[in-house]
Amino acid sequence: MNELELYVHIPFCMKKCNYCDFLSGPSDEKTQFDYMEGLKREIAFYGGMYGRVRLSTIYIGGGTPSWLQESYIEELMEVICRSFSVGEDTEITIECNPGTLTKGKLDCYKRSGISRLSIGLQSADDGELKLLGRVHTYDQFLRNYELARTCGFANINIDLMDCLPGHTPEKFYRTLMKVVRLNPEHISCYTLTIEKGTPFYDRYKFDMVKLRAGMETEELPMEDTAYQIGKMTQDVLAQNGYMQYEISNYAKKGYACRHNIGYWQRKEYLGAGLGAASLIDEVRYSNIRDIGEYIEKSFRIEREMITDEKSEKSVCGTNLHADACVISRNAQMEEFMFLGLRMNEGIEKSRFYQKFGFTVDFIYKEVIEKLIYEGLLAETPGRLYLTETGMDLNNYAVSQFLF
Ligand code: SF4
Repeated sequence: MNELELYVHIPFCMKKCNYCDFLSGPSDEKTQFDYMEGLKREIAFYGGMYGRVRLSTIYIGGGTPSWLQESYIEELMEVICRSFSVGEDTEITIECNPGTLTKGKLDCYKRSGISRLSIGLQSADDGELKLLGRVHTYDQFLRNYELARTCGFANINIDLMDCLPGHTPEKFYRTLMKVVRLNPEHISCYTLTIEKGTPFYDRYKFDMVKLRAGMETEELPMEDTAYQIGKMTQDVLAQNGYMQYEISNYAKKGYACRHNIGYWQRKEYLGAGLGAASLIDEVRYSNIRDIGEYIEKSFRIEREMITDEKSEKSVCGTNLHADACVISRNAQMEEFMFLGLRMNEGIEKSRFYQKFGFTVDFIYKEVIEKLIYEGLLAETPGRLYLTETGMDLNNYAVSQFLF
């Protein structure tokens, strides 16, 4: 193993948003302290296990990492840098929420080597922010964004969310333009999904049923409105110098997020913290999801054999892993295709050959011919990628690559 990506999960938020089913939530100070101590022990353990391997990217996500007092992040970064090889060129991102950033925190992030901020704005409309249950206003976001620029951050992503209840292309256009005028290096536009167990699920479950049945909905945008919002987003961002490089991600030249590209290219990654996932040697490990158990076990981290119930194979993990899944060769190929084809430039044929010892044309000959015939897939001598129509019908197109 030459290098790894590192994901660090901070599961704390000031308040749970109405649509969110992530492993995150409010917490008291003692839990934060105990958790961060456990997290540092886990990272140091991996450092010993993998022999100070080089980290190509580090992503501190959550949750709301920027909600924590800065000393936690500073100490976390110190442990990471002591445990792994972190270079000048390592992309280091921290997720932030508007209203939580201060000059002290931003200066500390800079000192710690963090080079990229990902700010979760979601909407520039205060009414929509309220509906989403966000704890900030657009003005608070603006002040934090300007502060981040003053503190020298030159690589900022802004997360937005489309297809909110009542959304029209015009409404989302207003949010988009406010953000575009700020000239961030990167914009992510995710579509709202209604997840079970959230307040939004209770509120919009009937709309969801109607949407699936193609019936008129009351608040959630219908399929054709969602399509128009997506097209408008692509046009507006392209006109303003943002290249779409993945279904939901747009960047100025040279600012695509290397960490996420690594996921889509199936590079190996190590996940530390509550519920975090790792992909090592074609085994996907998932950490414990109960915070009390995680903290308790972090006092004595040790290697442990874990049996994958499906394949009945045993692999070496740690006592912080809840389970491990050995990815079969067929599943590796499927993932290679459906993750890779999320990116506009698609998959590199030579990487498929290097990895699997067969050409992609040999394995997927009929599927490739069919999708090219249907106008959903295109190829160059070195690559396969989805056409614009293929991107619109992404789910259908990539499902063809499942064995
Ligand atoms: S801030 Fe992010 S992680 Fe936290 S509750 Fe809201 S959406 Fe979820």
